[in-house]
Amino acid sequence: MPDSRKARFSMRADRKETLRYLGYRGQEIDSKMERMIEEAAAELEQQSSPKSVYREYSCQVFEDRVRIGELEIESRNLARNLKGCSRAVLLAATIGRAADFMIRKYSVCNMAKMTVVQATGAACIESYVDEVQEEIQKNARKRGLYLRPRFSPGYGDFALEYQKDIFQMLECSKRIGITLTEGNLMMPSKSVTAVIGLTGREQESCQMKNCSLCAKTDCEFRQEGEDS
Ligand code: SF4
Repeated sequence: MPDSRKARFSMRADRKETLRYLGYRGQEIDSKMERMIEEAAAELEQQSSPKSVYREYSCQVFEDRVRIGELEIESRNLARNLKGCSRAVLLAATIGRAADFMIRKYSVCNMAKMTVVQATGAACIESYVDEVQEEIQKNARKRGLYLRPRFSPGYGDFALEYQKDIFQMLECSKRIGITLTEGNLMMPSKSVTAVIGLTGREQESCQMKNCSLCAKTDCEFRQEGEDS
């Protein structure tokens, strides 16, 4: 059965990440913006209900496709990411509906605040997925395995359509309350699904930071400027 986790993690709205999503690159932040970020972070941290589910499968990698459990995925980019992995984890996580409610609320009365909530929500889900990933990493290390960078449907040639299969395999709707729109977008919007390869080679593992903040500049899996 998939392993599903409720909110026992300390999901944080990382200020630096929020500023990055807002497009700040070292510029001065005025006190009004500073206050909005603090308020949005406090509201989201209090109102969100992060949940996740993940499960490990066998993994076979071919040149332009991979097989994870029974799921066959045609994607050269994912195959490259999982090269050498004989196991892979499917993961789904969400911070819940609070961010979407707040975005809707501020969209009619305060567009600046709405933008800040969008960015803060994106920082929250990233920080939460990092925490879940750390737990997966800890368990994998006991078996001498290390994590490859997570890779989500919609990246490169990994088609968004595979969300349906991941949802089914992890029972996402039932376990953590995420649904898919017709276009395979997730609701609540601050949700993530991902594949994480497990490798026995530590030198091929991911430092589990945002790539743009990671010091591993020679990493072959580096992705610049990814957003949630
Ligand atoms: S650059 Fe760092 S964070 Fe990005 S994939 Fe490589 S090891 Fe992971």
